[in-house]
Amino acid sequence: MAKQFTDSNHHTYEGFAPATRALHIDRALEPGSGVAPAIMQSVTYFSEDGADFAVKATEPLNDLFYARHGNPTASRAALIVADMEGKEAGIMFASGMAAITTTLLSLLSKGDHVVAQKSHYIGTTTLMNETFGRYGIHVTLVDQDDTEAFARAIQPSTKVFMLETPVNPTMKVTDLRGVSDIARKHGITTVCDNTFATPFNQRPGDFGVDIVVHSATKYMGGHHDLLGGVAVGSKRHMDCVWDMGMTLGGVITPFNAWLVLRGLRTMKMRVDQSNKNGLAIAQFLEGHEKVSRVYYPGLESHEQHALAREQMNGYGGLLTFDLKGGFEAGQRFIKALKIPFYAASLGGIDSLVIQPAALWLGRLSPDLVGKQGVDPGLIRFSAGIEETDDLLKDIGQALEFA
Ligand SMILES: *Cc1c(COP(=O)(O)O)cnc(C)c1O
Repeated sequence: MAKQFTDSNHHTYEGFAPATRALHIDRALEPGSGVAPAIMQSVTYFSEDGADFAVKATEPLNDLFYARHGNPTASRAALIVADMEGKEAGIMFASGMAAITTTLLSLLSKGDHVVAQKSHYIGTTTLMNETFGRYGIHVTLVDQDDTEAFARAIQPSTKVFMLETPVNPTMKVTDLRGVSDIARKHGITTVCDNTFATPFNQRPGDFGVDIVVHSATKYMGGHHDLLGGVAVGSKRHMDCVWDMGMTLGGVITPFNAWLVLRGLRTMKMRVDQSNKNGLAIAQFLEGHEKVSRVYYPGLESHEQHALAREQMNGYGGLLTFDLKGGFEAGQRFIKALKIPFYAASLGGIDSLVIQPAALWLGRLSPDLVGKQGVDPGLIRFSAGIEETDDLLKDIGQALEFA
């Protein structure tokens, strides 16, 4: 259940859509600030006496004690994300990976078992494949499009299902309701990375997911100018995440939290335009002679399109596609593009493009690159907020060179 919010003028925001609420709901936290939110830069705060000090020092999510415990500017941003996701509480982090590692470590101990997907963001994959094993946390990886595989992987020590949907580069989708139902029956906590979809395209909590995490670096910040992360869930879960966060210390800076606040206020418009561009580009590429395959959950040809339609309101700005001409064709295509920048990251106002196989180039032959599960000619495109026709024209002319 999302919290009820009342600002200093005693307006309640019940009944307004999340994009409208995002402009208002955090005002109650700092009623003295202006129309734009303030940045609280202080690291430490006054206590009245010993008793007050002791309370503030130990109270979860208290943002007026010491900055590693919480920060009012970050609290405001976390509260808006929690509201967007239909959750009770939230915590901002220094990065998406800080949100993911802190959340998972708060739920897991030595000897515990996690079921995760074969495909995740690279940092999460490394955590599952390498890091957790070093600390005695066991992991089983399953195909995310096989819901029953999650049930089959359960052991007596299974504590967490880690989910992410859609996922790149395959753009496969996880059945959030199906997997959450299985988890609930076994007392397993579900965590979902909702970075690609954003709360406007998909709310995992509506399908039973317990904790939702994001890289705020992507759509929430939206301008390629900050690193941040966020986790939202019940107050009980966030108290536990907060406890681990105090120890790990991956807190967001007040300035970056302020940039996230600013980004959240325009996110709906940016996501809408990215959705529009993503779908238009996917449809354009699907019929193109130089392209062998397009991966985008919004396409009817996507194997899980029916499921995507059920749990998503929009399909996002991220898509991948295979060029028939392989790696070299991909390099020529990217070089010929005029609008998108050749750069890592996604979810911002500027379209960005990469060729994932380039990560291995120089170390592996094109053949071996293919064996990594990524087609050497695969292109990842993150559609920004440019005019749709400009992007289509640019992609069309660049494909002549592919
Ligand atoms: C970028 C990203 C992350 C990691 O976020 P950082 O802010 O770079 O730490 C995690 N998950 C997904 C899906 C991402 O795209």
